[in-house]
Amino acid sequence: MAVKNVVILGSTGSIGINTLKVVERYPQKFKVVGLTAYNNVKLLQKQICKHKPTHVAVKQKAIAQFKKNFSSRRIKVLDVDQQLEELVALKQVDVVVIGMRSSAALKPFLSAVRAGKMVAPANKEAIVIAGEILMREAKKHKAVIIPVDSEQSAVFQCLEGHNRKQLKKVHLTASGGVLLNTPKSRFDKLPIKKILNHPRWKMGKKITVDSATLMNKGFEVIEAKRLFDLKDNQIEVVVHPEAIIHSMVEFNDGSIIAQLGVTDMRLPIQYALTYPERMDTGLKGVDFARLGQLSFQKPDVNKFPALGLAFYAAKKGGTLPSVLNAADEEAVDAFLEGKISLTKIFKVVEKVCLKHKIESNPTLNQILEADQWAREEARKLLY
Ligand code: MG
Repeated sequence: MAVKNVVILGSTGSIGINTLKVVERYPQKFKVVGLTAYNNVKLLQKQICKHKPTHVAVKQKAIAQFKKNFSSRRIKVLDVDQQLEELVALKQVDVVVIGMRSSAALKPFLSAVRAGKMVAPANKEAIVIAGEILMREAKKHKAVIIPVDSEQSAVFQCLEGHNRKQLKKVHLTASGGVLLNTPKSRFDKLPIKKILNHPRWKMGKKITVDSATLMNKGFEVIEAKRLFDLKDNQIEVVVHPEAIIHSMVEFNDGSIIAQLGVTDMRLPIQYALTYPERMDTGLKGVDFARLGQLSFQKPDVNKFPALGLAFYAAKKGGTLPSVLNAADEEAVDAFLEGKISLTKIFKVVEKVCLKHKIESNPTLNQILEADQWAREEARKLLY
């Protein structure tokens, strides 16, 4: 494998940190050329010293400071809000890992795809809101998208080497989140701290709340539909609390292929970075005898209505997924600030979605307008 030059968007978040661990394991295989971060300036500085990228991107107000601090290294310091598109399209870049959250990832994602890069998205917002455009452009520019989200990585891996025409359906697994065994009547009585304590995965706050409401799984339904070009009846969600099976694909003969592994993001991240090769991760395998059993159940859409709403948005398509995503982002932020209760998140998101006049086959601008509109509508209901 030739040395791959890697850019990590959102290097100080959990995906970014894990990507750097993978890179560190194989210094002869990967070179970090770009790191970007919004808020965690301290960690970013440490990462710069260790990985010596040629480019970094930070908030505008931090640019001067970074230039001064790293003047001896001749690092190019860019504006994280304005220049990510430029960064990912640089000639020397081979792989772009998208670890940053929110729809802000859309423009750099699109730019990387148009530059024909290999893109490893952990960010699901961009694919949820503009998946059709991203996939179309990827095809046109021969960019390869290898998802890092564990479920999508599993589906991608299961489909490798198989005839797509023989695919019957995809079974997306869901750990069920922190509220799986909590009665709905108790949802609003739990402290935020409890909601943020995911039983299987250590992730950012927003996605952990979305995992508790199953909105995250809903986004993954939309994401899978776009990434793998599936029909609505080709996606099923099954709750699998052990989170050992990361997803499965079923072929027309009834045969099912699953991808299993320990719950550690380094596995799908490394797969994306080394693709099409596989290399030792240093992670332990699954100890089946110790696990004893794997269990499954049907998701409870009455308890977790966000999942049903996301299926509806996947079906309707157009600008609705953008509205779903934006309204949810606003509502979850309000929840994290302690302004609304957990169950209010869905109420707000549903109201905004139902009010939206869907534009089918939207342009990028229409998608971004729908995003703005949904944020304003959500804020009216929140504050
Ligand atoms: Mg996931």
